[in-house]
Amino acid sequence: MKVRPRSERAGRWSAREVGTLFRRLARENPAPTTELHYASPFELLVAVLLSAQTTDQAVNRATATLFPVAQDPEALLALGPEALAGHLRGLGLFRTKTRHLMATSRLLLERFGGAVPQSRAALMQLPGIGRKSANVILNTLTAAGTIAVDTHVFRVANRTGLAPGTTPRAVETRLDECVPDRYRSRAHHWLVLHGRYVCQARKPRCPECRIRDLCRFQDKTPPDPREASRRGSGATGRQPARAWSRHRPR
Ligand code: SF4
Repeated sequence: MKVRPRSERAGRWSAREVGTLFRRLARENPAPTTELHYASPFELLVAVLLSAQTTDQAVNRATATLFPVAQDPEALLALGPEALAGHLRGLGLFRTKTRHLMATSRLLLERFGGAVPQSRAALMQLPGIGRKSANVILNTLTAAGTIAVDTHVFRVANRTGLAPGTTPRAVETRLDECVPDRYRSRAHHWLVLHGRYVCQARKPRCPECRIRDLCRFQDKTPPDPREASRRGSGATGRQPARAWSRHRPR
């Protein structure tokens, strides 16, 4: 039987390859979680709502001053829109996010007794919470094993060929089909972190990537020639990328 060289893997991933992928990610980071800072379901909801088109670091800076004075929907509403906007001013779309947070807090009190609902349909009734945000919240708060497809997950799923799709919903469906149950609750975080720190948008770090032998991406970043010559001369080369494992949340 002709054995396909690892660098030429193509087509749909086999169940065995998917298992290998997640085993490697699990070995690297057994308990991945969100990099957003929060101490309650309400704070997670707020942080996720604020994270649209903004980095987690920027959200964490904003919530560091917001959460001490708005730890529940009543306190947030009591702040009022101007004071709330003052905390969010460093974030993109802060005016829209201010409106959404005020309306969401009001709805939480009116319909859910001030608690964060734990179903996708209920979460999606809240202003500023779409399917992706609802999936992130459910994944983090419950054992539902939802896989939220953000920009990082979308890129990694398509580049690697693991779950190709032209829309986030199509990618989510493919991931739902192929991710083994035992990895489902952690898959979203692993793929986000892999996209954020290794399979980066502009220049993926393919030479250091732990799953490059499985990845179907045709235009992998070639090794740096200076790095290759250092390795050839016996110097210690760079270690495989594991930057994301150092970026654990507090
Ligand atoms: S080999 Fe490159 S393109 Fe493929 S997952 Fe790794 S970093 Fe991304």
